[in-house]
Amino acid sequence: MDTGRLSPEARETALGTLGNGEELDVVVIGGGVVGAGAALDAVTRGLSVALVEARDFASGTSSRSSKLIHGGLRYLEMLDFGLVREALHERGLLVQRLAPHLVRPVRFLYPLKHRGWERLYAGSGVALYDVLSASSSGRGLPHHRHLTRRGALRACPSLRKDALVGALQYYDAQVDDARHTMFLARTAAAYGAHVLSRAPVIGFLRESERVTGVRVRDLEHDRVLEIRAKQVINATGVWTDDTQAMVGERGQFHVRASKGIHLLVPRDRIQSSTGLILRTASSVLFVIPWGRHWIVGTTDTDWALDKAHPAASSRDIEYLLTEVNKVLITPLTKDDVVGVYAGLRPLLAGESESTSQLSREHTVASPQPGLVVVAGGKYTTYRVMARDAVDAAVHALDRGAPKSCTDTVPLLGAEGFRALRNQRHAIAARSGLHVARVEHLLGRYGSLVDELLALVASDSSLGAALDGAEDYLRVEIVYAASHEGARHLEDVLTRRTRISIEVADRGVAAARPAAELMAGVLGWSDEQVEREVENYLRRVEAERASQNQPDDETADATRLGAADVVPLAR
Ligand SMILES: Cc1cc2nc3c(=O)[nH]c(=O)nc-3n(C[C@H](O)[C@H](O)[C@H](O)COP(=O)(O)OP(=O)(O)OC[C@H]3O[C@@H](n4cnc5c(N)ncnc54)[C@H](O)[C@@H]3O)c2cc1C
Repeated sequence: MDTGRLSPEARETALGTLGNGEELDVVVIGGGVVGAGAALDAVTRGLSVALVEARDFASGTSSRSSKLIHGGLRYLEMLDFGLVREALHERGLLVQRLAPHLVRPVRFLYPLKHRGWERLYAGSGVALYDVLSASSSGRGLPHHRHLTRRGALRACPSLRKDALVGALQYYDAQVDDARHTMFLARTAAAYGAHVLSRAPVIGFLRESERVTGVRVRDLEHDRVLEIRAKQVINATGVWTDDTQAMVGERGQFHVRASKGIHLLVPRDRIQSSTGLILRTASSVLFVIPWGRHWIVGTTDTDWALDKAHPAASSRDIEYLLTEVNKVLITPLTKDDVVGVYAGLRPLLAGESESTSQLSREHTVASPQPGLVVVAGGKYTTYRVMARDAVDAAVHALDRGAPKSCTDTVPLLGAEGFRALRNQRHAIAARSGLHVARVEHLLGRYGSLVDELLALVASDSSLGAALDGAEDYLRVEIVYAASHEGARHLEDVLTRRTRISIEVADRGVAAARPAAELMAGVLGWSDEQVEREVENYLRRVEAERASQNQPDDETADATRLGAADVVPLAR
């Protein structure tokens, strides 16, 4: 197996192969976590597979979540034990076997407000959470603990004394969702899947009632190709209904969107050695450690506007600040907010009025011969969704296929990660990088770190920090374009790295240096560099302006002021 380089050359090869009219077993539409997971599931069963993504991998919901790999304590409260157990099983697999380089434990504190009954009630919930995870794939995370008020304040000195009478401490896990999804696509490519980003499906191929493939526009070359396949899997998240409409399907179920936003604030604004989970009137609020920042989120409101660029309004931002400030000694203000992002939950349309009451379970349907639709679910259970979707596709294949084996298929970078982490000091000495840089690289690339170190060895300037975003190395920008399928500046600044939300200027200063590094790999002209930078700056401006608008409608209209990624010059 190679390391599945998602390089410009690999994209051309995939286009050439897919354009030759050969019939594949499966084509998957949508390069979010579910579609990328389905491509990996299908290809590791021995099927021939293509994965086509309209924009960039994870550019939809899968880069905009709370980034928790969790069972979901609040689903326990909804008595959804099956969902919690399944998600905890997946959490164990990811932490221990499938992606230990990307998925790591995170500690949470749950402040108790009432003496007596609340400790019993919430304590039983957290204990059950531990039991459910231990009874599945092996927990891989420490047990929960009960804390006194004094103990809780030691862990989180920023909490107001009157905000709690004691606390519970428990563990979950977190992941950089966009990187994990890209790793899924890359691992699928390493096993032989044909993987294409910037390739929206614009129509379906049909033979009478049967779906026989898809019509795809290659946005980079502005040409259309037809991909024939025995089975098509629609994994387009909040776009599910739009995709189904293309096939003229009446719809056995519908997917609606609920918006959730998050804020990033610098780590020193909240003195705490642990994350927080706080109750709100309708749901919960997380304060999650994220490198040198805290992620604060989230909201949960219906959204029927632009799906590609959901916008956070000033009302959303104020809501989060108000909620978190209820427990903090020193309140956060808008000036503390470094980054903001908004995402859309793909919810199976249900009867309930309130989106936070809808279950995060998923559905798989085969509405027409040759077509499978998968929707709903949550990030943590992507592998189960992918497996169920491919099972449905296999069911309709004449020759059948083996059972899913993705529970035993580590993602690229997982093999050897722990040994390399133990050797980080030796790697630092050998490469000339500081050990903190090596740790940063190991947590983002796992054992593929050798590929980056080889680039630095051949050009030492790549071992320097990126101007404008010093937490990242220049080599990471080059590698994103040469190995990780980044096609445009926005892909690198918002998803391969998180510069767009982690740096106070939202990546404005880093935009040009990053574009110039990408240009070398992608063969951009000076004009293309200018266009990429201009486009990114307009996007930042539009996002900032939208966040000053009072509500969804005005924020959406303002955000749409900036066009989508510029096409390559032709
Ligand atoms: C605010 C928020 C917080 C969340 N937090 C968590 C969490 O902490 N933990 C958790 O487990 N889950 C969480 N979730 C849920 C989780 O993020 C989603 O369930 C998951 O990312 C959905 O993945 P997906 O692949 O179904 O959709 P997406 O990631 O949206 O993927 C669909 C893809 O299809 C592509 N597409 C659309 N139309 C076409 C077309 N015509 N042709 C080709 N491609 C197309 C899109 O570009 C997109 O990339 C959260 C969700 C939100 C919104």
